[in-house]
Amino acid sequence: MVAPVPEPTPLSLPPALMSAADRERARDARGFMPEAEGLLLHRAALAAAARGPMLEIGGYCGKSAIYLGCAARERDGVLFSVDHHRGSEENQPGQLYCDPEVVDPRSGRLDSLPHFRRTLEAAALEEWVIAIVGTSTLVSAHWRTALSLLFIDGGHTEEAAEADYAGFGRHLDSGGLLAIHDVFPDPADGGQAPYHVYLRALDDGLHEVAATGSMRVLRR
Ligand code: SAH
Ligand code: MG
Repeated sequence: MVAPVPEPTPLSLPPALMSAADRERARDARGFMPEAEGLLLHRAALAAAARGPMLEIGGYCGKSAIYLGCAARERDGVLFSVDHHRGSEENQPGQLYCDPEVVDPRSGRLDSLPHFRRTLEAAALEEWVIAIVGTSTLVSAHWRTALSLLFIDGGHTEEAAEADYAGFGRHLDSGGLLAIHDVFPDPADGGQAPYHVYLRALDDGLHEVAATGSMRVLRR
């Protein structure tokens, strides 16, 4: 009898490997990510991190970087965290998602970088998480390194989200994972730009691996 042609193995994500203390630090960190979504991100990173560097757009105060960084530490990997640390539109002083404690009193401008550093220091993740302070389009224009995982959680305008996907998505390795946050198929639940990026990625041939809340994980 001829052996059946093996099916491509579905990528089932490994179980989370985070201590109770790290999970608590992530929960307590300032930011915008429910724990269930963070743990899915962490599991995706566990699956990817040994294959090459990972990159996130939208580090903010380091919450998602804990979930990703714990996986990098576990797998001897590394996370590049890109953010200009001046906040998105909705984080600006006077806007709905502005945290006054993230405003630099000296300049009156948003500055999440000191918070990001403190979060990563407290989690003992400085060796595995490298902050890149700059605008994502400027960083992506100079980026040349293949990525095992790309996490898009930066600006939520159509231009910003599309540019992040176009600029860094092309560096995602074959088999690499794309995670997208704030994907809301129903416009009543939130802005549509991340959802459009998700649709574009599916259209480009990536396939969905897992989803929780507004987090989507796709594989190239
Ligand atoms: N991942 C974070 C939340 C990110 S909030 C968490 O887990 O809590 C979105 C972040 O994207 C903000 O910090 C903002 O400064 C950053 N951002 C928005 N547009 C950007 C751009 N064009 N380049 C770099 N960073 C950007
Ligand atoms: Mg988000």
